[in-house]
Amino acid sequence: MEPQRSPLLEVKGNIEVKRPLVKAPSRLPLPGSRFKRGPDQMEDALEPEKKRTRGLGTAPKIATSRPRAPALTTVPQTQGQTAAPKVPKKTGPRCSTAIATAAAPPMLGGKKPSKRPAWDLKGQLCDLTAELKCYRERTQTLDQENEQLRDQLREAQQQATVLGAERRTLEGELARVQAQAEQGQQELGNLSARVLELEERLGTQESLVQELQKEQLGLQEERRGLATRLEEQERRLQTSEAALSGSQAEVASLRQETVAQAALLAERGERLHGLEMERRRLHNQLQELKGNIRVFCRVRPVLPGEPTPSPGFLLFPSGPGGPSDLPTRLSLSRSDERRGTLSGAPAPPTRHDFSFDRVFPPGSGQDEVFEEIAMLVQSALDGYPVCIFAYGQTGSGKTFTMEGGPGGDPQVEGLIPRALRHLFSIAQELGGQGWTYSFVASYVEIYNETVRDLLATGTRKGQGGECEIRRAGPGSEELTVTNARYVPVSCEKEVEALLHLARQNRAVARTAQNERSSRSHSVFQLQISGEHAARGLQCGAPLSLVDLAGSERLDPGLALGPGERERLRETQAINSSLSTLGLVIMALSNKESHVPYRNSKLTYLLQNSLGGSAKMLMFVNISPLEENVSESLNSLRFASKVNQCVIGTAQANRK
Ligand code: ADP
Ligand code: MG
Repeated sequence: MEPQRSPLLEVKGNIEVKRPLVKAPSRLPLPGSRFKRGPDQMEDALEPEKKRTRGLGTAPKIATSRPRAPALTTVPQTQGQTAAPKVPKKTGPRCSTAIATAAAPPMLGGKKPSKRPAWDLKGQLCDLTAELKCYRERTQTLDQENEQLRDQLREAQQQATVLGAERRTLEGELARVQAQAEQGQQELGNLSARVLELEERLGTQESLVQELQKEQLGLQEERRGLATRLEEQERRLQTSEAALSGSQAEVASLRQETVAQAALLAERGERLHGLEMERRRLHNQLQELKGNIRVFCRVRPVLPGEPTPSPGFLLFPSGPGGPSDLPTRLSLSRSDERRGTLSGAPAPPTRHDFSFDRVFPPGSGQDEVFEEIAMLVQSALDGYPVCIFAYGQTGSGKTFTMEGGPGGDPQVEGLIPRALRHLFSIAQELGGQGWTYSFVASYVEIYNETVRDLLATGTRKGQGGECEIRRAGPGSEELTVTNARYVPVSCEKEVEALLHLARQNRAVARTAQNERSSRSHSVFQLQISGEHAARGLQCGAPLSLVDLAGSERLDPGLALGPGERERLRETQAINSSLSTLGLVIMALSNKESHVPYRNSKLTYLLQNSLGGSAKMLMFVNISPLEENVSESLNSLRFASKVNQCVIGTAQANRK
């Protein structure tokens, strides 16, 4: 694209274009040309000069007013060309020749004409005529030139007019351009301010950009981290998906297996139930074979501070199977000092042999004893009433056997906590076969034919508020003790708490009433109820664990003071209830129509645990001391009688 040119420059360009000039031929007469003229010749010669002076009256003026001669003398080539034809072509060269001729007198053969002698007037006239002719030609040429110059002047004037107009236009344009320039300047100022502002903003933007770039770098870093994590997660997801699909397949197969297992389980459950019932039947049969009334004899060890008995006083002979047989026999030797021999020498000791279902020598542990009765206790869960007694004189180890030794040592735990723990665990096992069991405990003592609650709390604690034995309802066989607490138990801890409470109640009573604990029967009863809801089966039976009162008799030779009378009454009550127990067992054994349960509170309370379907176990506790030999013999004889009894075939209390 061609840059737009300013009109001013255009003008200048025009002028520059017009600069190459054609120099006009000199109008001045040649210096040094001197002529000798005649008056008319002179006049003729001068006339063109005058004419020129008159005709070109303004010419010098122009020359002065326009000092730039080239403007006047310069003729544009175009004008020159147009003006040129006006001048007769012959004139130029002729004139120049004429001038040359006029300036220099005609030369012949290149030689300067020699001066005419004064006498040669004719020659002089001829020269003057030639000179005149030459001037005339020159005048003519000058006229033409003059005319040409006039034309040039007119043209110059026209050009000046045009240029003036052009100048005005240019001035206007200049003003406009200046205004534009001013406006441009202002705009430039504005723009500079704007530029500054923009630069400032640019600075801010740049710092922002830098920050953003930094942030971008951070984000890119983060993005890379995230991408890596994403990849990791995707990998994991794929692994998980693979594992999931594997698991799903496994689940499906397991479901199928479960269905099959469920069917198998149902079948097994059925079989298991059949087996359980069979087990109960066989278990019962075994217990029956062992005898529905069993008697175990337990001899306590000699306690520290007690006299060591003579070596043959207590013996535990082996059974027919030798020492590997469980001991069932016991021999007690008594030397009767009243019986003397004829010679006066002391009579040899009498040996009393006893045989029981099991004999526990002094070293036997609590666990060993419990092992023997665990099966019997389990019968209570199967619905057979079970009753375990501890019989013996005071201090023979009844309480130790039933409740345990002092100090809460698990090794010396008695039958009651062990039996309950065993029941809870078996009940839980049977739970897997659909049986649910509940246990309710009560603990009372019978002292002097009065029943007191050993689980009494609050204001009744230790007072042993009187209780009555009543039937649970009209026509009901179940017995209940009024005012006594029946506490549901489901774990060992609860049983421990009850035994602890009973001990506290006894301790309070002991201080008040002279060792009452040994003069009373303690009866711990657990009512067991089992249910197989799915099969609509129910079973329930009481488990009674009885720590009997001391079986010792009162020495008939003792003087009867007021205290002793009370003691006698106590002893009679105890003896009466213990002999009633023996009688009841006998009556049951002999299948007598009347069983004297009502003769004592003890047998009355225990009647449901002693009847035909019940299983009974009596521990006869024996002191190892020789001084207790008489009581030991009494106990052993009583126990032997019981041992001979057989109560009719037991039947489970099933509904
Ligand atoms: P009872 O209740 O028949 O009156 P205890 O059970 O109170 O007799 O026993 C009397 C004492 O003999 C207690 O100190 C008891 O700890 C202790 N004793 C009883 N039997 C045993 C035994 N098998 N092993 C160790 N100590 C025993
Ligand atoms: Mg006792």
